Amino acid sequence: MEDVQQLQEELRRLKLVVEDLEHKKRYLEEQIKAARSMSDVPAAIVSRPDLQHVLSRLVKKVAMILQGEKCVIMLFDPEVGELQVLPPAMGLNEEQVRAFRVKDTEGISGHVFRTGESVVFQDAVRDPRTIKDHVAFLQVRNGVTVSLTTKRKDEDERVIEERRIGVMHVFNKRFGQDFNQDDRRLLEMLAEQAAAVIANAQLYIKVVEEKKRLEDTLESIHSGVLVVDREGEVVLLNDAGRRIFAVVEGDGLGRQMAEVIPDAEVVTLLAESLRTEEELAREVTVAAASDRIFQAQTSLMKNEDGHPTNVVAIFNDITEIRNIERMKTAFVSTVSHELRTPLTSIKGFISTLLEDRQGYYDDETKHEFYAIIDAECERLHRLIQDLLNIARIEEGHVLDLHLGTVDIPEIAARICAAHQSYTSKHQLACQFPADFPDIIADADRVHQILENLVSNAVKYSPEGGQVWVRGSADTNSVLIEVSDQGHGIPQQNWERIFQRFHRGDNEDDSHVPGTGIGLYLVRYLTEAHGGEVRVLNSEVGEGSTFVVRLPIQPPDHVLRAAR
Ligand code: ADP
Repeated sequence: MEDVQQLQEELRRLKLVVEDLEHKKRYLEEQIKAARSMSDVPAAIVSRPDLQHVLSRLVKKVAMILQGEKCVIMLFDPEVGELQVLPPAMGLNEEQVRAFRVKDTEGISGHVFRTGESVVFQDAVRDPRTIKDHVAFLQVRNGVTVSLTTKRKDEDERVIEERRIGVMHVFNKRFGQDFNQDDRRLLEMLAEQAAAVIANAQLYIKVVEEKKRLEDTLESIHSGVLVVDREGEVVLLNDAGRRIFAVVEGDGLGRQMAEVIPDAEVVTLLAESLRTEEELAREVTVAAASDRIFQAQTSLMKNEDGHPTNVVAIFNDITEIRNIERMKTAFVSTVSHELRTPLTSIKGFISTLLEDRQGYYDDETKHEFYAIIDAECERLHRLIQDLLNIARIEEGHVLDLHLGTVDIPEIAARICAAHQSYTSKHQLACQFPADFPDIIADADRVHQILENLVSNAVKYSPEGGQVWVRGSADTNSVLIEVSDQGHGIPQQNWERIFQRFHRGDNEDDSHVPGTGIGLYLVRYLTEAHGGEVRVLNSEVGEGSTFVVRLPIQPPDHVLRAAR
């Protein structure tokens, strides 16, 4: 009887266990369903705030399912070799999130990450595997930790690649309970879903960021970029491209290129590249860009079968290069002319003198001839000097300065006297105050600066007149003004004439010989001294005044460069 009773009792207990197991099974099935629904995260996680939202939902759900107070995802950062919290975390404040970082060799986090084995711990304070500082700071009693592993599967759902990206913790089981092996299994399953979501989101964000970076790069480059698909629709036109073709932002995308690009030559080039499947290069002059000249280069984007899908065209502005080339050609012919004229004159006078064995010319005439030869030699010397300087600058050399004490009034007087001896139409005069200071500079270069300005003053006032060189000084610098009563310079050209090879477009000056390098050198040499030069004033038909400012003591960078 007792035995029967015992058996019945045993049966009742068994029934309870079975019931409990049934209950647990149902519970687990429900949780599996809940967990599955978590992976129904929309594939298009567009931006970081969206990811934050998804993660926040995820940690809350996991904490709820496992009945934990806290849920934290940690990702491994290979650069620092640390597991760091991927916010937001459930049940941790911002400070805790920031401070919770673990080396992959430390604590339970490190162990789980390294080995992939899950850990359930009941007494965080006493468990030898926990990091006590973290336990105290995060107020952890117990927990379950599993690894986050992404898996790549083949068509038959077989795992072909595994990558551990971090760990997932759930801390502090609610109602004073402990975590058990069921919780562990459940978390392992949830972690698998979570890892997939995180990995997808990270990948997506990477792609979005990469795309954004590419777009930013394309937008910021100076060359115009135009991408057109097989159907001739505009796929991309970057900022520079929009400026070249005068297209308003947002206008053009998805429309036929012939409607968007106002330049038939460009449209033909792209169409031809698509049709012939060849990469083409052509120089185009774009009316919409005020006739600027562009080097257009097409290239084809192909799909896996090798068929072109898009054509990309890049437009480089080569207007300046072409201008310089044009000016250089003009320059070479003017230089040849400039060299030939004094040489012809020198040769003529020397031949005349050589042939005069009978002493036909008196001493005064001979002296006049010698003076002309001297002046022409001086002109040649100046031209060659300028050409050498330009060549050195073009080669990228910084012109060396030989600094010393420079007496500007003395140099100006010498230059004026030399010019005065070649002209009777002009009156050259220097005006410097008695206390005009010496400056520290390269005397030869200062001579070149003033020589170029005075020779221009004489050259561009062919009818003659006054040429003044006036000086003044303040505490730090000296000012030298060179003025004439010549043809003058229209204001819109005041800056341009300092550019290399630029010559004025004044009709009256068309027959005045010149190379367009004088003022360029004047500016270069003045700036090399830490000074500046500009047109102070000029009126067409009235005359011009140029002003040079040079420091009395060269600034540090000039001193350093001169050493
Ligand atoms: P170049 O005299 O050999 O042409 P520069 O560089 O010295 O070259 O001068 C550039 C242009 O500036 C000249 O072609 C001329 O048109 C203008 N220019 C320079 N100095 C004067 C001046 N004093 N008066 C009028 N025009 C000037």
